[in-house]
Amino acid sequence: MRRVWVIMALLWAGGAQAQDGFADWRAGFEARAVEAGISARVVRDALDGVSYDPEVIKRDRNQSEFTKTVWEYLSTAVSDARVANGRKALARMGDALDRIEAEYGVDKHIVTAIWGLESAYGTFRGGKDVIRSLATLAYDARRAAFFEGQLLDALRILEAGDVAPRAMVGSWAGAMGHTQFMPGSYLSYAVDFDGDGKRSIWGDVAVDALASTANYLSEFGWVSGQPWGVEVMLPEGFDYRLAARETLKLPSDWAALGVRGTDGAAVPDHGMASVLLPAGAQGVAFLIFENFAVLERYNTADAYVIGVGHLADRLRGGSGFQGSWPLGDRGLSFDERIELQERLTALGFDTVKIDAKIGPLTINAVRGFQDSVGLVPDGYASPALLERLRDAK
Ligand code: CA
Repeated sequence: MRRVWVIMALLWAGGAQAQDGFADWRAGFEARAVEAGISARVVRDALDGVSYDPEVIKRDRNQSEFTKTVWEYLSTAVSDARVANGRKALARMGDALDRIEAEYGVDKHIVTAIWGLESAYGTFRGGKDVIRSLATLAYDARRAAFFEGQLLDALRILEAGDVAPRAMVGSWAGAMGHTQFMPGSYLSYAVDFDGDGKRSIWGDVAVDALASTANYLSEFGWVSGQPWGVEVMLPEGFDYRLAARETLKLPSDWAALGVRGTDGAAVPDHGMASVLLPAGAQGVAFLIFENFAVLERYNTADAYVIGVGHLADRLRGGSGFQGSWPLGDRGLSFDERIELQERLTALGFDTVKIDAKIGPLTINAVRGFQDSVGLVPDGYASPALLERLRDAK
């Protein structure tokens, strides 16, 4: 009983300490914001009385999309319900989406899929006070500089008058509206598509948010008419060292190496493509195009980009994947991914960053290690591969 009290007292003291430190930080930030050119009135209206939000920090330390396997993520991201709701959303917003596609040259199914993944087509836009969330994250040490910049941008949005401070709501991390724009992205890419004089992404009407997303993708180089990626089959004896992001070939050249669509035909020449194997040789294989990298501007996780792309394909009437996933494998935890990167780097296979993100550089390092010990060099960072690294000297 006594121990419980001690723990409760420590928790309370920790919380109180955070609140005290936060009040000091807030006063300092308000001065910096005014120095940055934001009017004192806007700063005061936005920040006076705003308190530290412990829930935001709890969420920041427990982000789930990075601990699931690709197939676990996709089973939720492209569930039957999300496909069905997406078709309804397409029907409901069809006219606006057609006009947005005509204006920005971005496939309406892609825009709808992002809407589906970011907010379940506007159903879960997040009800947190964005100023409070960003202030909490800017005060917190982990990514203070990034979030202080976003908080300044949020104040600039308020200064422009597009929204009132307490109506600026969003996710715990400050992503706002139907397609979850961060304040910085909003300032650069949000558009007033319905012409009412405001760039409105927070309310029930989705048009401005959808057009803003199309504008964002267009500005980052979306190639009209090109797919994000296409599922392919690899031939027996495929050289897995070719499955690297920097190895680019035309689909016809890939076809000459035996890489074909699931119908057995060569993939049409949409542009230069690389082979992506999110779960190695035992999982679904893709040819991915430049538009894959454009979608990474929304979220760099392969699982997310495949989720958007595949959901868009399904909304267009496409079927599920023909290939299968190594369902018996589990995802690596955050600590395991750090360990994987540290061990690879120590063995001379440099992952460049130790950030627990399995991106192209880490995949190349895995491939290099696999090649050096006679494993199939498919770049798959699996639990078995981590075990093998622990045994390596
Ligand atoms: Ca508008």
